[in-house]
Parts: sequence; C-alpha cells; structure tokens
Amino acid sequence: MVVHCHSILSIHTKMKGKHNFREFFYLAASDNPKANKKAVCLSCIRKHTLSVAVSDPSCFVPNKGLLCRNHLRKCVNFEIEYNESEQQEILSRSVAEDKKKKSKKGKNTGMLN
Ligand SMILES: [Zn+2]
Repeated sequence: MVVHCHSILSIHTKMKGKHNFREFFYLAASDNPKANKKAVCLSCIRKHTLSVAVSDPSCFVPNKGLLCRNHLRKCVNFEIEYNESEQQEILSRSVAEDKKKKSKKGKNTGMLN
C-alpha cells in the first residue's frame, strides 16, 4: 500500500490550523496561559482601539471558530463595516464545531416506542 505523506501532512495542518474567521480577529495572549488565546474582533478594535477592545469582554472571545462566528453575528461594528452579502458569506462559513454536532448522536428517543 502506498501512503501519500504529502496529502496526510496537508490534511493535518488544515485541521489544526486556523478557523475560517481568523482574518476578522486579532489574536492576543490570554490572561490565563492555559486558556485559549483571545480573539479580538478587528471591527471592534477599529471602533474602540486595541487597548480598549482587548480588555472589553464584549469585543473578544476565546479563539474558537464557533465563538468567533457567534461574536460576528451580534457585533454591531462588524455589521457597519460589511454589507449584507458580505456578512452572509462570512457568517455562513463553517466551523469545526458544526461537524462535531452533526456526527454526535441525537437524543435517544427509544423510550417513546
Ligand atoms: Zn466585534
């Protein structure tokens, strides 16, 4: 059997690499070294400046695709900067958590038989 090292490598880097919303966030070190990095919303930074946004919990989320997307969904600064079709395209991007949810077993309704 032939193993294609290159394709395995590229899959690997893809998986552990950035999520789809990295371009909208600035990564800052978290206060807790064990925690995820802070992803500070760039739209919020442009509105409030970095030093304000990085210490305002309504401007940053832990660096997870799902949480970043949730922030952009409700972020008024993001809404102002991007037009509707851009927002739709960005917010429809998938996150790793989407796949996890789908593969997870649903509620067991066996008792209702
Ligand atoms: Zn924001």
